[in-house]
Amino acid sequence: MLGDKNSILAHKPLALTKKRLRWLILLSSFPLFGMVAAFGIAPETSLEEPPVEEVILGLDLPEIIPVSSANMTFWRQESVQRGDTIATLLSRLEVNNQNAAIFLRDARDVKAMHQLVPGKIVHVQTTATGELLLLRYFPGGSEQLVMEKSGSAFKVSEKAADLETHIQMKSGVINSSLFAAVDKAGVPESVAIQIVDILASDIDFHRDLRKGDRFTVVYDSLYGNGEPARAGRVLSVEFVNQGVPHRAVYFQAENGESGYYAPDGKNLRKAFLRSPLEFSRISSGFSSARFHPILKTWRAHRGIDYAAPTGTRVKAAADGTVALAGWQGGYGNVIILQHQGQYSTVYGHLSTFAKGLRQGQRVSQGDIIGHVGATGMATGPHLHYEFRFNGVQRDPLRVAMPAANPVSAKYMGAFYDYTKPLMARLDMLRGTHLAFVD
Ligand SMILES: [Zn+2]
Repeated sequence: MLGDKNSILAHKPLALTKKRLRWLILLSSFPLFGMVAAFGIAPETSLEEPPVEEVILGLDLPEIIPVSSANMTFWRQESVQRGDTIATLLSRLEVNNQNAAIFLRDARDVKAMHQLVPGKIVHVQTTATGELLLLRYFPGGSEQLVMEKSGSAFKVSEKAADLETHIQMKSGVINSSLFAAVDKAGVPESVAIQIVDILASDIDFHRDLRKGDRFTVVYDSLYGNGEPARAGRVLSVEFVNQGVPHRAVYFQAENGESGYYAPDGKNLRKAFLRSPLEFSRISSGFSSARFHPILKTWRAHRGIDYAAPTGTRVKAAADGTVALAGWQGGYGNVIILQHQGQYSTVYGHLSTFAKGLRQGQRVSQGDIIGHVGATGMATGPHLHYEFRFNGVQRDPLRVAMPAANPVSAKYMGAFYDYTKPLMARLDMLRGTHLAFVD
């Protein structure tokens, strides 16, 4: 019996309240209540093994309080399994049938309760007889759902989850596609998209990626109630593309100016994006023959073709004004944007234009202006992209582009102080990774 009790106590959560602990000690002092004590301890996973003996010896027995299992409450938790419904979960949580029926009625219009996410945890508080008092569910994001018994019904409330930030560091090597590599490294898709956006002025992720390219990324990850909620901001990233390392670090100066900068303080945001095509799981992947860029020599073609499924989103390469959005011969549906300094960009073979896009309209870099198609003289869906100076096609890869402002001189000290440890982390991870690859 004593052995049993010790093993039970060893599994109780570290965060037991004093009051709760006293109850446990009280209960464990009476063999009659052994069963009750076992119920009282079952829920919540333990973090570490608490120093059981010390606690028991160090406390005096409290005054005798009449113990009634009727007014004791218990916390239990269950992971959502694939195919679970609220009903099956409540049954596993040993909520009594009558009570479960009331809950199901009151949860009928609660969306989150009908879209249970496998792997997420549902916590319930019940009485000893299995009457449900409260259900807590955190599907991710920043809100947690609480359904609490109030009279004969359950009241629903959304409460802000207590979010904690953890810094994550991950690295990977590209073998088939960027998304395959980030998946393998356990990096969330939102972080992959950020990496692509941050380096969009330096790397054309549609055409420049090669097998063996590698990345290291440091980012914020938000946790609510100890469960992963969502990925936050990328803090620093290194991407080695065709042997050339590109590094970026997020920095916000005292005066509020912020952005991603190279280690020397240069701004990574350039006047033109390297690729005007949205990078996504579908449009990416140089290993897939179907989506492989149509390769033509620049000299013969005077433009860049991006093969991509019909409907892939096309972005404005730079801030500018719509000079044309209509049909033009072999280009089919085409958009021409006029930018500062005699530059213009051309987007051909589009299936559709962005809703409401019209001549004379101002657009910002990255705005969605249309969608990939095969209109005009096109053998298959692709984007024909041209970059022109004074109306003449130029190779965008050969034109030096002005960048946004670097970190102001007076903040460079603070910039180096802040970025030094982040750079050291990248160095460390790169070292680890190279060792691993070799
Ligand atoms: Zn073309």
